[in-house]
Amino acid sequence: MKIIMLGAPGAGKGTQAEMISEKYGLPHVSTGDIFRANIKNGTELGKEAKKYMDAGQLVPDELTVKILLDRVAQDDCKNGYVLDGFPRTIPQAEVLDKALTELGDKVDYAINVDVPDENIINRMSGRRACVTCGATYHVVYAPTKVEGICDKCGSELILRDDDKPETVKNRLEVYHKQTQPLIEYYDKKGVLKEVDGTVDMNEVFNSIVSILA
Ligand code: ADP
Ligand code: AMP
Repeated sequence: MKIIMLGAPGAGKGTQAEMISEKYGLPHVSTGDIFRANIKNGTELGKEAKKYMDAGQLVPDELTVKILLDRVAQDDCKNGYVLDGFPRTIPQAEVLDKALTELGDKVDYAINVDVPDENIINRMSGRRACVTCGATYHVVYAPTKVEGICDKCGSELILRDDDKPETVKNRLEVYHKQTQPLIEYYDKKGVLKEVDGTVDMNEVFNSIVSILA
């Protein structure tokens, strides 16, 4: 099963992708996580990506598409995956479709987690991310057992630089201009599914499970 998570930054794509990954045994592939791991390891890709990420802009398609295609070509993706944060532009979606078509394959579901802009700043300013394993929490909606410490690996949590309100504003603009058109793109392909992302995260997940069942 090949699933794409669509939605604004902070809509809950990563949260839901992680839950889908656990329930269905599919790898959770996040281009944002791949970029952050590269930044942490000081790679050339990381240095290049950071310039765009810190400004709330998209990393250019040439770079992004290559890392995504390399990742989904790995063995653990043979039976499917959940893509979180990719595609973010029409050209990215077209490259993915072309690569899948060449394999006689296709996207099964594009799930749009719908959350209005008014809720997004609140979501993002409360988001905390683990510096080591990338797990995501929220100070109010998904708190850790011990404040500031990752439940999964015990490392320190941070507020991502690009989750600061001034950058979130840019990211929302970029989302509406470059990423939102993907909703229509996947609707035309007959694989779009919409879920209300404003409700409790377990309720969002229940809606997704009923779609995938
Ligand atoms: P995305 O991957 O779309 O950027 P995340 O999954 O990281 O978004 O979620 C953004 C923030 O909102 C996180 O802090 C997360 O814990 C929180 N969150 C996710 N889903 C919900 C929800 N349904 N209700 C409240 N908070 C949520
Ligand atoms: P995310 O963790 O998905 O919120 O992504 C964080 C940042 O990484 C984004 O704001 C972009 O700068 C960059 N990024 C992640 N995925 C992509 C993508 N598919 N295309 C372009 N940039 C991306």
